[in-house]
Amino acid sequence: MTTPRYCFPHKHLLGIEPLSPQDITALLDQAEAFEEVCERPDIKIVPALRKRMVVNLFFENSTRTRNSFEIAEKRLSAEIINFDADTSSLSKGETLIDTALNLEAMHPDLIVMRHSAPGAHALLARHMKASIINAGDGAHEHPTQALLDAYTLRQRFGRLEGLKIAIVGDIRHSRVVRSNLWLLTKMGAKVTLVGPPTLLPTELKDTWPMVDISYDLDAVIPDMDAIMMLRAQFERGTGQFIPGQGEYIRYYQINADRIKRAKKDVAIMHPGPMNRGFEITSEVADGPNNVILEQVTNGVPVRMAVLYLLSNPHGEQVP
Ligand code: ASP
Repeated sequence: MTTPRYCFPHKHLLGIEPLSPQDITALLDQAEAFEEVCERPDIKIVPALRKRMVVNLFFENSTRTRNSFEIAEKRLSAEIINFDADTSSLSKGETLIDTALNLEAMHPDLIVMRHSAPGAHALLARHMKASIINAGDGAHEHPTQALLDAYTLRQRFGRLEGLKIAIVGDIRHSRVVRSNLWLLTKMGAKVTLVGPPTLLPTELKDTWPMVDISYDLDAVIPDMDAIMMLRAQFERGTGQFIPGQGEYIRYYQINADRIKRAKKDVAIMHPGPMNRGFEITSEVADGPNNVILEQVTNGVPVRMAVLYLLSNPHGEQVP
């Protein structure tokens, strides 16, 4: 009896929540194949999405994610439309659905969207024929960030299962943490959330009972394989949840002293943009344990894999 061929079973990537461990592994394996393309010395382009149209719709600021998607789309030979939210008819009062339906009339194959409203992507997916990729929705999910984080961890440690990972800082406002919680727990990693009580909602335990919660970074550090620092999201009101910046720095900043107590090969991660001197010191951000720019590099093959598997669920034409 032959085993049936794996077929990526999702039309959209709205979050990590609906993915199975097999889907996550398929995406990471496909990204590995694309990494080889990205590392070629000469032509870093494959025809996998030739004649497919991708629309990038960013309603919130983005540097890494937007550029990373655009590079990934170019490397797959897609046709790209960049929709400028500031100069669009949304600023004349058109609804998101009307804007989306007008885009749909131009027959795009994939839409990459970042939006401040959690669930905006699910709404679009109900109204549109194109595949929708979530590039961040409010404090809900940021699935490609979690995939590139997992890729970086797998590259460094050869596995995800059994890894001990602390996610530290502004848990309350972070979509990165929610996507990582889904992904890492599905893949058998052991997650500890660390932060001040006001930024660490204990309701997260209702959804992820297997996760540990700690308010004491110093106690957690020695046991961790990776420490993922989160940005304090002052634009979302983090300042109201902490008594003062000095106190936060004292207890939750990752700095050279704290690194001394960590495992020698601990991986220090950050999704960017970093608040240097606040949640992380430059010494650590640029130090030997950081994998922060590797995360950025890995974003491209990971996003290529997402675009590709949503368009070619059987994984045909693997380069
Ligand atoms: N760049 C990540 C995001 O868009 C992390 C952050 O902004 O803190 O969620």
